[in-house]
Amino acid sequence: MKKEENPPSHKASTVAKAMADKSEGQGQLMEKIISLCKRRGFVFPGSEIYGGLANSWDYGPLGVELKNNIKQLWWKRFVQQRDDMVGIDAALIMNPKVWEASGHVAEFTDPLVECKKCKRRFRADHIDPNYENTKVFDQKIKCPDCKGDFSEPRQFNLMMKTFLGPAEDKASVAYFRPETAQAMFVDFKNVLETSRKKLPFGIAQVGKAFRNEVTPGNFIFRTREFEQMEIEYFISVPKTDAEWEKIFEYWKEEMWNWAVGDLGLKKDNIHECECEPQNRAHYSKRTIDLEYEFPFSRSELYGLAYRTDFDLKNHFKDGAPYHDPESGEKSYPHVIEPTFGVDRSVLAVLCDAYKEEEERVVLKLKPTLAPYKAAVFPLLKNKPELVEKAKAIYNDLKNDMMVAWDDRGNIGKRYYSQDEIGTPYCITIDFDTLEKGEVTVRDRDTMKQEKVKVADLKDFLSKKLNA
Ligand code: ATP
Repeated sequence: MKKEENPPSHKASTVAKAMADKSEGQGQLMEKIISLCKRRGFVFPGSEIYGGLANSWDYGPLGVELKNNIKQLWWKRFVQQRDDMVGIDAALIMNPKVWEASGHVAEFTDPLVECKKCKRRFRADHIDPNYENTKVFDQKIKCPDCKGDFSEPRQFNLMMKTFLGPAEDKASVAYFRPETAQAMFVDFKNVLETSRKKLPFGIAQVGKAFRNEVTPGNFIFRTREFEQMEIEYFISVPKTDAEWEKIFEYWKEEMWNWAVGDLGLKKDNIHECECEPQNRAHYSKRTIDLEYEFPFSRSELYGLAYRTDFDLKNHFKDGAPYHDPESGEKSYPHVIEPTFGVDRSVLAVLCDAYKEEEERVVLKLKPTLAPYKAAVFPLLKNKPELVEKAKAIYNDLKNDMMVAWDDRGNIGKRYYSQDEIGTPYCITIDFDTLEKGEVTVRDRDTMKQEKVKVADLKDFLSKKLNA
């Protein structure tokens, strides 16, 4: 990670540097985003004062706001606004039998190759582009670090193990969940009985998942601890392929609507990728990945899978868990699963929003996602009457939205500072505020300023922010 110890500065040298960086193109974009994230408090290296912990990241004061906004919007769209969806929040550590039944103990593996010389480990499918299809590792490929030969691939289980209780023996082995999905299957009957939902309906969950990834990296793209937003959508046993395919298509559209509509990602940066049968997870009859053009490569952002009745059949071996309320017929519902990575959403949003313009760096975040919706500035820090009025406006706005306060430096610097973190509106309290009851509101994207009556300010902002 690029070290950047200095606080934000908008001196000519910084602007000149930003301009020079502009020509360096896409290759540098990731480094700039990582640097901005650290400098402005979006994401820090984890455990940094102890030398860090490889590929662990902490969300800072602005990052937690952005991440929470994404999770809340997701919950609103997929749970709150729908009649056919309920949520749960399950334990991270489940009975280990869950992972035997789900196939994770046997199947949740990645192929690992090790350099015989320097001992560095890689995922065979990451280092040999044909491996996914052929399942044969090309031994002509040498270690990128030391040019040594690789071992034959071996399957490496990705689940993170722990022990419950003081004894570290086989009987106390447990796993941190590698996906949130299984709790939605295991809790299926409890949810059904308490929510009285009828097919088709879904269960949604947002939470942490853990995978002992062979090669984590690319900032928050691939980490060993991450967050998912998942839906298990239960449907009646399909009589024809067309029946599940129609619902699959519907969820694909919904995922696009979320990515483009709610997150504001550019359509051209997202691609659909149909997974070949040999590359699908053990439970899936069809998988489509939505891939995003990350600065390092085009890579998976979200996934959509048709899990059939695989999971419910494995967990409810004693009998079908669904009883049709009208016919009384028992069945194992089938499942369509749209799954969304929270951290990959954050990264895609930052990459899409990051812009270098003539004299500024600006995060063009959708207002609903921006950590601060507005910033309030007293024109002059040394005029108590301006500061007092500005504080009153700031305190009032704080009841309705996240608002920043800044009285350092000149107004230009404050604008630059807010642009860099994506604050949509800056409100300056000046002598007109005291005399005419008007503030100056400056728009992040157009940089235009307009006068707004203090009495109309909340209405003005709420219309703009929800437009
Ligand atoms: P990949 O092929 O990149 O390893 P996957 O296909 O194993 O991903 P899924 O099991 O489908 O991923 O997980 C659902 C979602 O969770 C992914 O689309 C992604 O957004 C997110 N995700 C998966 N693994 C990680 C990780 N190690 N770090 C961050 N997010 C992840």
